Amino acid sequence: MNASVITETLSTPVLDRYDVIVAGGGASGLIAAVAAARSGARVALVERAGCLGGTATSGMVAQYIGLFNGTVRCVGGIGFELTRRIEAAGGSDGFRRYTLAEASANPVTITNFPFNPEVVKIVADDMAREAGVDVLLHSRVVGPLLEDGRVAGLLLENVSGRRALRSRMLVDATGDAVIAAAAGVPYVGEEPELRDKRQPLTLVFRMSNVDVRAFRAIPREQKRAIALDGLQRGQLAWESLSFCSTPGDTDAICLMSRIHGIDALDGAELTRAEQVGRQQIKTIVPFLRENVPGFEQSVLAGIAERVGIRETRRIVGRYTLTTEDIVGGKRFADAIALGAGPMDLHEAGGTGVDLWMPPAPFEIPLACLLPERVEGIVVTGRAISATREANGGARHMGTAMCLGHAAGAYAALAATQENPAVDKLRQLLRSQGALVSAADALAAADENAVEARPA
Ligand SMILES: Cc1cc2nc3c(=O)[nH]c(=O)nc-3n(C[C@H](O)[C@H](O)[C@H](O)COP(=O)(O)OP(=O)(O)OC[C@H]3O[C@@H](n4cnc5c(N)ncnc54)[C@H](O)[C@@H]3O)c2cc1C
Repeated sequence: MNASVITETLSTPVLDRYDVIVAGGGASGLIAAVAAARSGARVALVERAGCLGGTATSGMVAQYIGLFNGTVRCVGGIGFELTRRIEAAGGSDGFRRYTLAEASANPVTITNFPFNPEVVKIVADDMAREAGVDVLLHSRVVGPLLEDGRVAGLLLENVSGRRALRSRMLVDATGDAVIAAAAGVPYVGEEPELRDKRQPLTLVFRMSNVDVRAFRAIPREQKRAIALDGLQRGQLAWESLSFCSTPGDTDAICLMSRIHGIDALDGAELTRAEQVGRQQIKTIVPFLRENVPGFEQSVLAGIAERVGIRETRRIVGRYTLTTEDIVGGKRFADAIALGAGPMDLHEAGGTGVDLWMPPAPFEIPLACLLPERVEGIVVTGRAISATREANGGARHMGTAMCLGHAAGAYAALAATQENPAVDKLRQLLRSQGALVSAADALAAADENAVEARPA
């Protein structure tokens, strides 16, 4: 036998049936699962990693942004509650005023929420358990279960083998639209001409024993000079000394690697990305120790379990969000979540980043989460229907959380009734503390303000 393709016939045990199944337990999926369960659904959450939290934990991207536009809070409900619980658990010192990509040519000052990702893993477990969500970790979702053209569940593989789970509604929160793409939902992001335009990947690493305050005290011009020197010597990968600090300012969680030209939907290329990322870390670490005030005594304490991916697929939904919508403050009758920005596109093949703040909180309509044609599925997080540029402002974890809240609540409603009215969804979301329109956020701006200390 020498065939290049083999045909398998599989008999797959069905494990269980749920009202709502959430595929992917990252920023969006975790909140979606909790929201669906709190809205009365029986919920399963399937995640390939050994923890929940997604890019925040497995990817070690240790700061939530996208929660504030200026001083206006754009995320309420379960996403904001997550930040309160992380802080209460000692996983964060709270919100801070932080200059993003400070050593780059065009930094922006925002409000961030830096955290210790290890604590986020524990809080995420707590929130899912308390909501009554059935969590299945170490389980890779491999495809949809399709019945009459409708998504009726998913197929997964884990150490037990291949299994199926049935759902009335499925939330695709994988970031890569894994289920949606396989179910026939139209999507963009894999076109060959995009190959060299995709944003770079970053393998995050953690340095312990850092004097973070000494580093923060360095004037910006000096930081930029250090970064450009590191680039010229070939020891840094991009023009930023970007890191998030942990509570007590002892550790720096560094977003300093930059891996270009990778198709993150190709297994071999993704493998190469991890290896290139580690090679970059091998040269960045001594550069930090030898040249950057505050890092003299630092040690490499960890490398993220998985490389961070900024860009893969985006579904083509019933509406596609554009930069013009964001800048023009377009209002939507079916607005269900708010973006805050910043607009953030990392230069493909280069060392810069295009960063700017939208003028006000922007509305995201339910139609961006709902695919054309295929029923039984709602998509949330990084893969919603948006142009590449708009996605650069809508992919932050704060926004992913409020999208997840809406997706989970919608799925819970849709599990018991066809096409639930958007007014009913907005009512449910508001009753759970969510901010669903720019008017909501602006009206509550004073009440929702938080104290944000300097970074
Ligand atoms: C390097 C980098 C830096 C960033 N910096 C910031 C920042 O500072 N602050 C910020 O707020 N945002 C930042 N972002 C953006 C942000 O992290 C993501 O856009 C955001 O996490 C998207 O949320 P999500 O829930 O869609 O995806 P994720 O958080 O990535 O979650 C997706 C989850 O789905 C799981 N999954 C995927 N496929 C499968 C499968 N087949 N089976 C089972 N599970 C699966 C994954 O394991 C993961 O847990 C950054 C992103 C990157 C890559």
